[in-house]
Amino acid sequence: MLKKVLIANRGEIACRIVRTGHRLGVATVAVYSDADRDALHVRLAGEAVHIGPSPAVESYLRSDRIIDAALRSGADAIHPGYGFLSENPDFAGAVAAAGLRFIGPPATAIRAMGLKDAAKALMEKAGVPVVPGYHGADQDPDFLLGEAGRIGFPVLVKARAGGGGKGMRRVETAAAFKEALASARREALAAFGDASCLIEKYIAHPRHIEIQVFGDDHGNVVHLFERDCSAQRRHQKVIEEAPAPGMPEAMRLAMGEAAVKAAQAIGYSGAGTIEFIADASEGLKADRFWFMEMNTRLQVEHPVTEAITGVDLVEWQLRVASGEPLPKRQEELSIDGWAFEARLYAEDAERGFLPATGMLAHLDLPDDLARVDSGVRAGDRISPYYDPMIAKIITHGPDRTAALSRLSDALAQVRAAGVTTNAAFLRRLTIQPDFAEGRPDTGLIDRHLTELTMVHAAPPEVAALAALSFSGTLAARKTNDPWALLSGFRLWSGASDFILLEHRGQPLPVSFLSKGEGNYRVLLEGRDVDLRISSSPDAFRVEVDGRTSTLHEVHDGKATTVFRDGESWHFTLADPLAGEDEAAAAGDRIVAPIPGLVKLLHVAPGAAVSRGEALAVMEAMKMELALPAPRDGRIAEVLVSQGEQVLEGAVLLTLEVEDG
Ligand code: ADP
Ligand code: ADP
Ligand code: MG
Repeated sequence: MLKKVLIANRGEIACRIVRTGHRLGVATVAVYSDADRDALHVRLAGEAVHIGPSPAVESYLRSDRIIDAALRSGADAIHPGYGFLSENPDFAGAVAAAGLRFIGPPATAIRAMGLKDAAKALMEKAGVPVVPGYHGADQDPDFLLGEAGRIGFPVLVKARAGGGGKGMRRVETAAAFKEALASARREALAAFGDASCLIEKYIAHPRHIEIQVFGDDHGNVVHLFERDCSAQRRHQKVIEEAPAPGMPEAMRLAMGEAAVKAAQAIGYSGAGTIEFIADASEGLKADRFWFMEMNTRLQVEHPVTEAITGVDLVEWQLRVASGEPLPKRQEELSIDGWAFEARLYAEDAERGFLPATGMLAHLDLPDDLARVDSGVRAGDRISPYYDPMIAKIITHGPDRTAALSRLSDALAQVRAAGVTTNAAFLRRLTIQPDFAEGRPDTGLIDRHLTELTMVHAAPPEVAALAALSFSGTLAARKTNDPWALLSGFRLWSGASDFILLEHRGQPLPVSFLSKGEGNYRVLLEGRDVDLRISSSPDAFRVEVDGRTSTLHEVHDGKATTVFRDGESWHFTLADPLAGEDEAAAAGDRIVAPIPGLVKLLHVAPGAAVSRGEALAVMEAMKMELALPAPRDGRIAEVLVSQGEQVLEGAVLLTLEVEDG
């Protein structure tokens, strides 16, 4: 067995690898950038080596520094995790050249699957079904248009070097083809330094179903069944499950065989995933799935496979890298029950999935209901440098309904403050009827985006609890009784108070009167509501109109977040003195809502603009964000330049002040 492994990664995957290392007695070495000096993965690993400044290109992508750190710490292997250098054949080659074991397939296998066009040609030759399309070298737009017509619209234009859903355009008609091709090429060139595209048939009613494969250095290859990752937003996975709902046994066999054949064709060793697209317009059929691409690494969603097979995939990786044969043969593997994984992100789903950064002041994650893979703790900063994932919540049950209802309950136990998360969006997806009944497809989230992301108005008891929190009443709740009535506040009863809350930019005035014994009369939005509140050390029970609900509340100085049934509401105190002047001034400035890169500036001083027009585009973490003009007017100043990195709140542009 390997003795010491350096983990060339960060966050939850680094922590997850450390855990298996500990269990097997394999020592681990973490690497970290400036931003990650106090990160959880650094704390958990046996040793840690600093490799550079916060930006990934200067740290986690520096193969020279990583290999040097491995040599200096006496590691005998490097585990690349996922992302970063995990699918870089030059890195795999350099690791081997330094006399270290790369925990993954040989560089040749990574290279063979690195470009989608070459991979498809290879798979076709190996007899694996491939999405009908053109994946040759000719990149002439007229020629490609002809190919698209031959394939039949709609088609998908895909960057051959693509990943993470980038450089992909769905095209409905011949007329729209050339423009879509040009924009896919631009995006691909910017993101991957390679503009070449392939054209694929756009599969109707698409489902993303992938097969986990594993090979060893002795010529054995097995598969560990499928995962369904059809719940996607912008071609990125949101909730994954295993097995796939509605999967006929004949199709499972055919997919498993095709995946093993694909891995054998490139002399595969270690963990890998073959991604297929299936046409589910008439249910899943054994002759309606096609190879999309192979990911030559451990996948983010590998825990659902672990949950249904009982295999620790990282253990298998370490064993295979030590030269051992695969621990199990195909016939020794089987599916037990059902599993789900939800990706908890620091992002504001209700505001167009805006990435959220900042200090995670409070974080409760589910404990008994789910396996939680996380790389952050309360008190950590979510920085703009890396992927904003907070945790993966994984549940298992005897069947799909049981596993999904656990996931739903587990997500309702997520309580974060300081940074907005997508927990409520995920939970709403778990109870969306089509998803809940096992009919996922890659368009499902988009079709239901409104209900999945709408802002829910704060119910009276939620706003009341927030108001009581700001008034100082809740702070006095320390008690040993399991449920003590929240009696009065500031020691006298019959007192009243007025709090001007703000929720999502809207003022919400709340007046309340304590009537003693935990009873309050609250006036908000023209309504009188009687509440009875009792508290335990960690929750509140509020009775309104004869109905009781359990609420949680986190107060972090300037803000209060109230949680109920998987939803949360974030309140601040509105400043009644913030006068008209300030509001007017706010309309004169375009401010960076997130820290990030100024990608495009569409205007120059003097330009006339109209309300809503995009003035600039910022890029942060995984998304682009257009900044609209707050009103009609004329640009006064442009205070930044294209390509500049700015902090949250930086003024980017100003509008000429309007008179009158
Ligand atoms: P990436 O490298 O960005 O992951 P993929 O080729 O794996 O690119 O495609 C990403 C997603 O795009 C898939 O999961 C699927 O939802 C969608 N997709 C890809 N190819 C097709 C296709 N031919 N028809 C319909 N949807 C597709
Ligand atoms: P606005 O739309 O006026 O900016 P929001 O309530 O959406 O007001 O958010 C204000 C700030 O508070 C944002 O920076 C956001 O990231 C943060 N925030 C919003 N919701 C939460 C939450 N549940 N927990 C912690 N911070 C939050
Ligand atoms: Mg993919």
